Amino acid sequence: MVDLFGTFGIRGVANEDITPDLAVRLGKALATHLDNEGKVGIGYDPRTSNKMLENALASGINSGGCDVLRFGMVPTPVLSFGTKHLPCDAGVMITASHNPPKYNGLKFWDSKGAGFVREKEDDIERIVEVGGKSVSWDRIGNSRKVEILSDYREMLNEKVSQFEKELKVVVDCANGAGGVISPHILTDLGCNVVSMNAQPDGRFPARLPEPTEDRIGELRKTVTSIDADLGIAHDGDADRTIIVDENGEVLSGDRVFALAARNYLKKKNNPKIITTVATSSILDEVVEELGGEVARTKVGEPELIREYRKNGGDLAGEENGGVIFPDWLLCRDGMMTAVQIIDLAAKTEKNVSELDETLPKYHQLKKNVKCPDHLKQAVLEDLSKKFEDENPDTTEGLRLAYEDGWFILRPSGTEPKFRCFAEAKTEERVEELSKKGMEALRESLDFVKKEKE
Ligand code: MG
Repeated sequence: MVDLFGTFGIRGVANEDITPDLAVRLGKALATHLDNEGKVGIGYDPRTSNKMLENALASGINSGGCDVLRFGMVPTPVLSFGTKHLPCDAGVMITASHNPPKYNGLKFWDSKGAGFVREKEDDIERIVEVGGKSVSWDRIGNSRKVEILSDYREMLNEKVSQFEKELKVVVDCANGAGGVISPHILTDLGCNVVSMNAQPDGRFPARLPEPTEDRIGELRKTVTSIDADLGIAHDGDADRTIIVDENGEVLSGDRVFALAARNYLKKKNNPKIITTVATSSILDEVVEELGGEVARTKVGEPELIREYRKNGGDLAGEENGGVIFPDWLLCRDGMMTAVQIIDLAAKTEKNVSELDETLPKYHQLKKNVKCPDHLKQAVLEDLSKKFEDENPDTTEGLRLAYEDGWFILRPSGTEPKFRCFAEAKTEERVEELSKKGMEALRESLDFVKKEKE
């Protein structure tokens, strides 16, 4: 069977891997998956191939008998919102999220605004392989533009309250899709907004769309030089947010997640947070404070949604700054995340660095070793034998937890690597745990390599 979908939909170099031809075939496959009737919302980020792919995808969907609603340039959470709100039978976001400019991709959404689960992606792949159905001339779908940004803006305004005081906020949209709405939302809610890189540009001239610490230097400088209260950095499709405090220091994604949780869940009784086995223990402490519980899943957004649908939950997220607010959207929303942090800051006399200090401190070490894909399973099996007596959590890879820290060993889902992530309260302990994990990993890898030779 053709293997198109990775962890986050279909990704590749535009016009080489992600071609108009592929988009037509995917469009027709999606329409066939929907039994050749209904409507599909399409949105895109500013990448140079966005309209080329939108046109091709829409043609395929129409040829398969479904109508298309064109949302135009929107962040991914707005596509999810539009798909659920209008409602559509499915949605497709044309984006490569945080990947470099030459990439593009397609991600499929169900009628509830959640990303397609693996089973649905498999069905699309199966149909692409045999070719989707072309309907007769009198059943060809049509396509029209729909303005969805103002509905999203209005509904978000209804969902949250005005900030209690005016904060000066610098928003760095990375020349991504967030520029069309994020600064407006924060202005609506009462911020004094200074926007940067808010002009969508698919070449991403100001910075690459992944908001890592080394790429958001301009934002950090701007926050301190104009005495702003905080800075916001989105990725290319604004489903993620990273925060910069008033001193220009970056708050990592897990700390952003924890602060958002503290604000969003404070009125909930026994709140439940869904996160993955690779996310910081900060979340456990914050949810304990709120009298709730944490459920841990495998890595990846679809796993969080799967757990939510099965057992419920009040908030879900990973350590990369993408937070899902399930009673708002079943999609990571960088703007709602920013709103929660600003709301929290506007309610207290504390500035953002002081808010960060109220969170527990952990030391983390992320390392990896190269490991060819075909050896990953054997390495994992050897590691399992090694740690058998220590009763590891096997939700994904092996997670070894101790009184004062933990580490996880797991094969990367996207690269030929095996990862070791350790976390502990002290620097010495995190180094010890990381060393223990890495030594075991190298030993198992050597052993497996020898066995296979
Ligand atoms: Mg993204």
